[in-house]
Amino acid sequence: MELDDADHPTRRRRGLLIVLSSPSGAGKTTISRMLMESDRDITMSISATTRPKRPGETDDVDYHFVDDAEFDRMIRDNEFVEWAHVFGYRYGTPKAPVKRALRRGRDILFDIDWQGARQLVPDFKEHLVTIFLLPPSMEELERRLRARGTDSDEVIVDRMRRATDEINHWAEYEYVLVNRDTDECLTQVRSIVEAERLRQARHAELDPFVRQLIGPAH
Ligand code: 5GP
Repeated sequence: MELDDADHPTRRRRGLLIVLSSPSGAGKTTISRMLMESDRDITMSISATTRPKRPGETDDVDYHFVDDAEFDRMIRDNEFVEWAHVFGYRYGTPKAPVKRALRRGRDILFDIDWQGARQLVPDFKEHLVTIFLLPPSMEELERRLRARGTDSDEVIVDRMRRATDEINHWAEYEYVLVNRDTDECLTQVRSIVEAERLRQARHAELDPFVRQLIGPAH
């Protein structure tokens, strides 16, 4: 039987939940955007947050910007796969798009912190790929934060302090990269994603292609 590409049995695998964490300013947003542009099988998870919108951000694109009451309701109605306090605000990953993507064997990219990554482990261990991005130096991190021009001095000092806290969790991640050069870092992230897609465990119960190769008796 001829199958078109979308139906081809080799495409059947478990979707990946790719967590990309880093201190803010380490280049995570740029890498995420470039990864999404270069790989149409990956969709970005859009978090809900109680943080106010920054200039240039769009509601339901960068985040779902919600108030405290709505965030409380989402917790109560069990609508998050994880949520955490970060920089004095709350951030959470909505459950429905995650479930939908996994059902379709699609991959999702999460820009969440170590607290979120930790919470995903018990429920999604078989799907999870965790990547931590380090800045080349703390000086460079501060330079990049200032270059964004979105935060006050006070906020930058606070973000630098929190960057150290975040980096302290590097050892909880499966992959740890240093973002010295955006293109090089993107190539490394793409290599990780490609390799993870090919892991036997991602295909084990799902891959009709192998069954087709060895025949029904096996
Ligand atoms: P920002 O306010 O700069 O957009 O994000 C601040 C931090 O919150 C980043 O480190 C980002 O990874 C983290 N973050 C964003 N969304 C979520 C989320 O849904 N869950 C968790 N745990 N962290 C998040």
